[in-house]
Amino acid sequence: MSASRTATKNGPMTTRIASFTLGCFVPIPCAGCGHPADPRWPVSGLCPGCRAALAAATPHEGRLPGAPDVRLLWALRYHDPHARLIIDFKNHHRVDLAGALAAPLAKTIAEAAEQPGLAPAVLVPVPGRDAGFIRRGYHPVEMLIRRTGHTPRRMLEWARAPRDQLGLNLAERAQNLDGALRVRVRVRARGTTRLLASRSASARSPRPEAFWVVDDVCTSGATLREAVRALRSAGMPPAGVLVLARAAREEHSARPPPPGSDGTKCGAGGPPGL
Ligand SMILES: [Zn+2]
Repeated sequence: MSASRTATKNGPMTTRIASFTLGCFVPIPCAGCGHPADPRWPVSGLCPGCRAALAAATPHEGRLPGAPDVRLLWALRYHDPHARLIIDFKNHHRVDLAGALAAPLAKTIAEAAEQPGLAPAVLVPVPGRDAGFIRRGYHPVEMLIRRTGHTPRRMLEWARAPRDQLGLNLAERAQNLDGALRVRVRVRARGTTRLLASRSASARSPRPEAFWVVDDVCTSGATLREAVRALRSAGMPPAGVLVLARAAREEHSARPPPPGSDGTKCGAGGPPGL
């Protein structure tokens, strides 16, 4: 990896030098646990222990809550310090944590891409909302995907804005989100064109693409189920769902959704139609 690539990946070199110099005099607390951050990488905002824990995380596989026919791959359990890091990254403009959080997600993507008989994974982020993008200035899920070295495929958009999910039970959340997502019109048109072309020249047809819905956190799974439904209804069934972190039921109930969340996913917020 070239020096310029390294500088781009970890932030501007001048910022890193300034941060390193500052870190020599002023202890910088780790964003995950509060202990002093790694003096070698003060700009990362992580202590060696939290950084090592993220790097050592291994992918897990299960089933999407409420959809036992949908595979779910995740990298982390949604509890501290991981939950704190994710919330800081999403809601407190801590984009400096993106690289460290992308590391375990990259392993999960690699796990999906190595599934036998499937083409390389096509990563479809759950779209955010207008308000979130205006507040943050970035789309957290897309940023994480890009930091893994992949390109997000913007195939989904909100067909309507669901109401606030807070206070709704699981059935009400599912009803609230039913039909809220759809495959973007241009994607549907492109898919139809590709399908017709493959039928007329089957010998030269491309390998089927393996779509994976990607989000940062799976809590109740309502938004992810809606994303899967939207892709299936457009004739593009996903191979499964990938998330950075999965919340167990008790963790979900113990920790209130972060500010800006709709309570069903932590990825709410971002430009519609991206
Ligand atoms: Zn730490």
